[in-house]
Amino acid sequence: MTAKDSPSQSVLIFHGIGTPGRTLEHGEAQYWLDREQFCAILDRIAAMGADAPLITFDDGNDSDCEIALPELQRRDLRAVFFLLTARLDQPGSLTSRQVRDLAQAGQIIGLHGHAHRDWRRLEAQDRLQEYHLARQQLSDLAGRDVNLAAAPFGFYDRQVIKDLREQGFAAVYTSDWGRAGAGFIRPRNCIDNRMSARAISDALAGHIPLARRPRRLLGLARKRLFPMWGRS
Ligand SMILES: [Zn+2]
Repeated sequence: MTAKDSPSQSVLIFHGIGTPGRTLEHGEAQYWLDREQFCAILDRIAAMGADAPLITFDDGNDSDCEIALPELQRRDLRAVFFLLTARLDQPGSLTSRQVRDLAQAGQIIGLHGHAHRDWRRLEAQDRLQEYHLARQQLSDLAGRDVNLAAAPFGFYDRQVIKDLREQGFAAVYTSDWGRAGAGFIRPRNCIDNRMSARAISDALAGHIPLARRPRRLLGLARKRLFPMWGRS
């Protein structure tokens, strides 16, 4: 059995915390937690020791720095922040200075692209912007090479994976649920404000919710084996 076949860790996705400072995208509101919900989950993670999940944040909301960072530091936790360069210095999003602050605080900066686009549908010029130029800008701000990516909306297909590998990324994080191993494609478990205590426990452990299992299997097959389907 290879490392790729032996999932070892749950990976969580958080988005915004508190009150959004920008107009939300359609369907996004459920991914915003209030501070109390967020802190309660962090307390549980801090108590999990070696079994603790990896914490990630997507989209680069200003709450990453203003709320999440001090709460992570209070618990001696580290996270990966997947950022969008088109949103930097925009209302409600991180400033360039805050990205530097996150990196200098020992947090990890990752790539979520430039403009929050579906990476399966990029033209060649868009790929340069989404993968290469955005990564360069984030690496400059972080002061170190950014080599982790998270696919916007969890959308990917074989072409996306091939492109990211060719660009030299170490891994791409998705939204496929379950536990992540050392392979290139690493599933994550998305936290939203409608989850029951039981559902949050499942996410912390990387257990795939029963209701998601059939759809997840079909989705993985489609994304990894049959790229044509992914373009429908
Ligand atoms: Zn996103």
